[in-house]
Amino acid sequence: MKKTAIILAVLLCFVNCAESLPTYESDLPPILIQGAMKIETDILISALEDSHDVTIAHWHYAAGKIGGYPVVISVTRCEGVNASVSTALAIETFKPCAVINQGTAGGHDPELRRGDIVIASDCFNASAWKALPSAKGEGVNYRDINLLDVNFYDEYENGEEITFLPADEKLKASALAVKGKYSGGKIVEGRIATYDSWENRVDNILFLHEKFGSSCEEMETFTVAKVCRVYGVPFLGVRIISNSALTGEGFIPELGHDCQAFVIEIVKNYIKEMNR
Ligand code: SAH
Repeated sequence: MKKTAIILAVLLCFVNCAESLPTYESDLPPILIQGAMKIETDILISALEDSHDVTIAHWHYAAGKIGGYPVVISVTRCEGVNASVSTALAIETFKPCAVINQGTAGGHDPELRRGDIVIASDCFNASAWKALPSAKGEGVNYRDINLLDVNFYDEYENGEEITFLPADEKLKASALAVKGKYSGGKIVEGRIATYDSWENRVDNILFLHEKFGSSCEEMETFTVAKVCRVYGVPFLGVRIISNSALTGEGFIPELGHDCQAFVIEIVKNYIKEMNR
């Protein structure tokens, strides 16, 4: 009797969970493309054929097709908690075959100007560090930090130490192959630093660039990459430099449009590659 009650409770829980997520029907697994803000997703949404909206809690998705292939556009909202939860919900709901996170970013590389695009070979969590000790009254040196291993708080990867989460090679190759379609600046391979902050202190930006090799900073990529790694879904981050304290160029959010237009070229190429 007790056993039946437990099974019933588990089943009820399962039914409740199943009801709380919308259903998504597609003969092929979609490509999920994410942007945090409207300025980073509106062009992509309007490029969709046969689209319909899906909302889960306060995360919005538009499911449709690009070039006849299923694509879901996700408005993650800004920062890591929003981006990671919206990614997990999207993976559970849409079962994507690949995830591209894209949008605006601040420059960390003095060579990068506003309008340049970084195709991320990898990314890291610039918020996850352990500081060297300092005594009361000694002051705080922002350079006295070591990045934490990605799995510092997890145990799922059997002790493998990894600080920089790599891009999926096929997605990256598809992106690099369409470099020539972008005329708004340079396209470079680089490294994204993700953290829940907006850095404007040039010395700290240069420190992060020199010590950890960051090309740019933003607030979502790493958190999405980590969720994709847990689920085993191929991932790529693409960011346009929309501001740089190093060059004195202020934030132009509308550059998010240029990044989206370039990402449409990446996705079309990736679909072509998948169909080969
Ligand atoms: N809603 C705010 C803008 C948020 S900007 C406003 O209108 O004022 C935060 C977004 O821009 C994040 O999604 C982040 O990924 C991106 N971003 C662009 N440049 C950034 C920078 N220099 N540092 C951190 N995030 C940046």
